[in-house]
Amino acid sequence: MKILIASSEVHPYSKSGGLADMVGALAKTLGRAGHEVGLVTPLYSGILEKYPNLVQTDIGLALPLGARRVQAEVWSLQPSPGLTVYFIKQPEFYFRPSLYTEGGVDYADNSQRFIYFSKCVAHLARHLPWKPEIVHVHDWQTGLVPVFILHERLTEGWGTSPRTVYTIHNLAYQGNFPGADYPLTNLPLDYYNYHGLEFYAHLNCMKAGIVYSDAITTVSPRYAREIMTGTHGCGLDAVLRHRQEVLYGILNGVDYEEWNTQTNPHLKHSYTAAALEGKAIDKAELQKEYGLPVDSNVPLFGNITRLAEQKGVDIQLGALEEMLAANIQFVLLGSGSSDYESAYVKLAKRYPEKVAVRIGFDQGLSHRIEAGSDFFLMPSRYEPCGLNQMYSLRYGTIPIVRMTGGLDDSVVDISEDADHANGIKFEEFSVRALAKAIRKAMVIYQDADILRHYRENGMQADFSWDRTAEEYRIVYEEVLNR
Ligand code: ADP
Repeated sequence: MKILIASSEVHPYSKSGGLADMVGALAKTLGRAGHEVGLVTPLYSGILEKYPNLVQTDIGLALPLGARRVQAEVWSLQPSPGLTVYFIKQPEFYFRPSLYTEGGVDYADNSQRFIYFSKCVAHLARHLPWKPEIVHVHDWQTGLVPVFILHERLTEGWGTSPRTVYTIHNLAYQGNFPGADYPLTNLPLDYYNYHGLEFYAHLNCMKAGIVYSDAITTVSPRYAREIMTGTHGCGLDAVLRHRQEVLYGILNGVDYEEWNTQTNPHLKHSYTAAALEGKAIDKAELQKEYGLPVDSNVPLFGNITRLAEQKGVDIQLGALEEMLAANIQFVLLGSGSSDYESAYVKLAKRYPEKVAVRIGFDQGLSHRIEAGSDFFLMPSRYEPCGLNQMYSLRYGTIPIVRMTGGLDDSVVDISEDADHANGIKFEEFSVRALAKAIRKAMVIYQDADILRHYRENGMQADFSWDRTAEEYRIVYEEVLNR
């Protein structure tokens, strides 16, 4: 199959969260499976310097953006079999200190930046010589691609235009811009209404993806059901219910080439389920790195997260306040809202022997936290898929998760299946429920046999990408045969 994927972030070139990991791994896996895969992404600052093998293609772009015509270059790289990555080089839009925000505030021209990017994707879909059959786009930043392709098919006789698949990684971020930005699309007003991409007098890029794609997927089966309800639908539940026959929930996979405990350049000591000594040393190293007392008897809880309301970092603060009288340690790596950042920094100052916090984004440290912690906290309000709980399982670190979205789909609680239990789940979104889950963890920690049982089950759980990519292939085939 010939598949063109597009995303505003792709690991290892750019990343703000799980979207980058997912798209990078999907593209790589499909390419290795023998498909012809292209992947389009913006060329952000620093990528050219880090990947000197990038070459400029002879594709030049000069596309309308409202009243302007904006030029860009296309650079490319072939990082693995079957995969070509196309980078859109447009310095005015993409050479910025961060991907989407500055000082916690969205760039004022994000509508221009990503409407333009979506136009580049639609253009490549049409003009790449290898003629993609499927165009698979992700989240609001590329939500307009299906409507651009549809419009060109209808007006410009693009006979065999590709089928489109749209994946929702987080329904809460919709790319909802003032209606005054609609002319940037250069589409006629026919699409700007209740049935199209208009949403309460705004241009809603997420809604465009949902309405105009041939199939919609999201990143776990449970989240697929949740987003069709008023509670989790973020105002788009009715639109999603309307398209439920082509809505699929596919759990993300894990790139075990990167996220493993045996051949991992970020870990000083490797380990396996059968020989866990290395994990104990990684824990001591982590305690040292964070300036906490090195003590193998204290259960160490870790968390790597965007400090955003979604992640339940508020109830986590409350539950820690309640539990810190006990003999536990907690390490955090995260960044985001300045209120949460300072609340966690304050907590660490009050409990210097028990709590340590790093504000920032650090890929290497995230591996060391996964390896060195005994338990991993994910008390999310909602979680489309979540990757860290799956990384934790593979690292023999027991995830403590709220029963929502992909967290519920990927972790097994003792109440569901004692033989295969690999984590702790709680349902109510409250300080009390999370504190109770932490207490359960402390009980497990005291019993070496039970602890080993959980760890072994976790390390055996298999979320490899081959299975996930195969589920996407089935969706592609379905839309091609429709
Ligand atoms: P989301 O995409 O909602 O942020 P996911 O759990 O799907 O959440 O993916 C988060 C990804 O980003 C994981 O790979 C996680 O390790 C990584 N991550 C989040 N915050 C940081 C950070 N501060 N430093 C390093 N990695 C981070």
